[in-house]
Amino acid sequence: MYDIIVVGSGIAGAVAARYLAEEKDKKVLILEKRNHIAGNCYDKYDESGVLIHVYGPHIFHTNIEEVYNYFSRFTDWYPFRHKVVANINGRMMPVPFNLNTLHMIYPEEEAKDIEARLVEDYGMGARVPIMELRKNADKRVRKIADYVYENIFLHYTMKQWGKKPEEISEAVTARVPILISNDDGYFNDKYQGVPADGFTKMIEHMLDHENIDIDLNTDCKDVLSFADDGKILYEGSPFNGKVIYTGPIDELFDLKFGRLPYRSLNFKFEHYDKDDFQGHSVVNYTVSEEFTRITEFKHLTGQEDAEGTTIVKEYPFEYKGREGEIPYYSIANDENNALYEKYKETADAYKNLYLIGRLAEYKYYNIDAIAERALSIAKTID
Ligand code: FAD
Ligand code: UDP
Repeated sequence: MYDIIVVGSGIAGAVAARYLAEEKDKKVLILEKRNHIAGNCYDKYDESGVLIHVYGPHIFHTNIEEVYNYFSRFTDWYPFRHKVVANINGRMMPVPFNLNTLHMIYPEEEAKDIEARLVEDYGMGARVPIMELRKNADKRVRKIADYVYENIFLHYTMKQWGKKPEEISEAVTARVPILISNDDGYFNDKYQGVPADGFTKMIEHMLDHENIDIDLNTDCKDVLSFADDGKILYEGSPFNGKVIYTGPIDELFDLKFGRLPYRSLNFKFEHYDKDDFQGHSVVNYTVSEEFTRITEFKHLTGQEDAEGTTIVKEYPFEYKGREGEIPYYSIANDENNALYEKYKETADAYKNLYLIGRLAEYKYYNIDAIAERALSIAKTID
C-alpha cells in the first residue's frame, strides 16, 4: 500500500516525505517513536503559554536558497539575527569573540595594536578557528588566543564534551570562530530566523499532504525487520518499497558492533513571573556553572503575548542509551567514525534502505544542511 516508509519525523524525515509525496507522487508512511512530530526541532507552548523549544534552542540559518525557499512554502518567518553573549565572571561579552570583544578586554592602545596584527594576518572579515589562532607566530596574538581559549572555549567544551578543545575534532570548535570584524552575530548566514508560528507548525504544514500518513508512538523496530538476505519486512511481510531511516544507525542493527558514542543533554526549564530574565536569547556560561548555557525563549521567538518568561539550562552528559535518554551529538573521531562505517556497510546490504540525518549518518548537521541532504536524496528516488 505504501511506496516509501520514512522512519522519523524530524527535519530529515519530514523534508524527504513531503518531496516524495508531492514531486514523485509516492504514498508515504512515517513511523515516529515519539508522541509528536518535528524531532529535536519540536516546540510547544508550556503551561504558562510561552513557546519553548523542548530539545534546546533552535535557530534556522542558511545561505542555501533552495532550502530557504522550500521551508518558506510552509511558514512565515520571525526574522531574528541570533546574538550570544558569554558570562565571564559576571561580565557579558559577545561570542564569537570579535574585535568588539577585543576592545572590551584590552586597553585602547594594546587593543588597536592587536587588531592591526589580526587584520594583517587574516584579513578583515576573516573567521579564524581558535585552534588555528593559537598557532600564530606573534606573541601578542597568542596572548589573546590564550585568553579566548581559556575564557570561552576550555570550560564550556569540558562541560559539553567532557574533553578539552584539543581532544575533540577541530571542526567542532571551528563552528564558533574568532571573527576579525565588528559583527556581533552568532551566525553570518543570509537568512536567519525562526518559523513565525514555531518549528512544529512548519513541519505540520510540510506533512499535511494526502499522500502522507503518520504513525506516532511507533518504534520502527516493532514493525520493520531486516532479514539476512537483504530484504526488509514490514509487519512480517516483504516490503518492496524504499525505507528512509533517520534514527540512530547502531540501534537499527541491534548494537551488533557496540554502541556509537554520543553526548546527551538534560534540559532544566524554569518559569519566572517577570518580563525579562537575562535580556538576551542565549547566555553561554564559559567559565562557571555546570550548565553550558541559558536560553530565554521570548528573546528568540519574539513572543509578546505570554505572561512571564521561561528559560532553559542545558546540562551535558555522556549518552548511555538508558530509558528516556536521547542521543544529541555524535562524537567524531577516527575510532567512532570507523565504528560508524561498520554499521554503514551493514546498511548498504539493503538496496532499498537510505540513511539520512544527524543520527543515521552520525554527523553534526545543522537544520539547513540536513534539509539540503534530504532533498538531494529524495530527488534520486524513483
Ligand atoms: P532528529 O530531529 O533527531 O529526528 C529523528 C527522528 O527520528 C526523531 O523524531 C526520533 O524520535 C525518530 N526516531 C529515532 N529512532 C526511531 C525509531 N526506532 N522509530 C521511529 N522513530 C525513530 N541546528 C540549526 O540549524 N540551528 C540551531 O540553532 C540548532 N540548535 C540545536 C540545539 C541542540 C541542543 C541540538 C541537539 C541540535 C541543534 N541543531 C541546530 C541541529 C538540529 O537539531 C538538527 O540538524 C536536526 O534536528 C536534525 O534533524 P534529523 O531529522 O536528522 O534528526
Ligand atoms: N564553544 C565554546 N564556547 C562557546 C561556544 C561554543 O567552547 O561559548 C565550543 C563548544 O565546544 C561547542 C562548539 O564550540 O560544542 C560548537 O558550538 P555551537 O554553538 O555551534 O554548538 P551547538 O549549538 O551545536 O550546541
